[in-house]
Amino acid sequence: MTQKKLSNIAIHTITNRPWTTEQCIDEYSKAGIGGITFWRYSFEDRDPKKVGDQARESGLNVVSVARGGFFAAESKEDRKKAIDDNKRAIDETHSVGAPSLVLVCGSNKHQSLNTSRNQIQDGIAECLDHAKDAGVILAIEPLHPMYAAERSAVNSMAQANAICENLENHPNVGIALDVYHTWWDDKLKEEITRSFNNGNLSSYHICDWLSPMEDMLNDRGLMGEGSIDVDQISEWVIESGFTGFHEVEIFSERWWKTDQHDYLKKIISYFD
Ligand code: ZN
Repeated sequence: MTQKKLSNIAIHTITNRPWTTEQCIDEYSKAGIGGITFWRYSFEDRDPKKVGDQARESGLNVVSVARGGFFAAESKEDRKKAIDDNKRAIDETHSVGAPSLVLVCGSNKHQSLNTSRNQIQDGIAECLDHAKDAGVILAIEPLHPMYAAERSAVNSMAQANAICENLENHPNVGIALDVYHTWWDDKLKEEITRSFNNGNLSSYHICDWLSPMEDMLNDRGLMGEGSIDVDQISEWVIESGFTGFHEVEIFSERWWKTDQHDYLKKIISYFD
């Protein structure tokens, strides 16, 4: 294992979806985890600022908010709606005190991927002033190509790097690298280095790829359960110079059905 210190590990609240926001804060902090990434549903009926304060008082770093994005749409009106929603997500990210907002960029099956990619880049560009004022990095998360029709037309680190470069490596644009989405890529190591060297590698997400998988969204594996050489990718990330959190992000109907305390222990044992 390349990354052993729990103080450099964060967990996404969705990993323990059965737990409330307060339980996640409490349990991660008791376990000695260093950081937490909030999914926006964690703010339901809550003031993001208070949630952020609670996390910090418990000794957790607020690492990121997931998620904004979904910029691709056929009508101008829908694209404008997406930009407005992203501005709200930026405000929530600012309130909770997280440095970055993860973007699931969006796609639209009725138009070409290139059209969607251009809309994504334009949508991000439209949000940049707002993000700059809020001190928030918009972290493009390339998604596995199996999601290209609906969830994201940005499917590789090379594409994410190209968007950042087209936006002149603006300090408020970044990349969220997730092993689940990118492990298949034979240029992954080079693209990680490229993103770090441009100042764009802002988040790193880990989990595992199960084969067969029961569901393309909610059947992710715990690190070590599947086909991804997470240790190798973590090594590349660290070698690139990245010193940020390694964020555990697992959507799993299977794990959500189990005792969440035991599950958290299993997550932690990966880093032992
Ligand atoms: Zn992710």
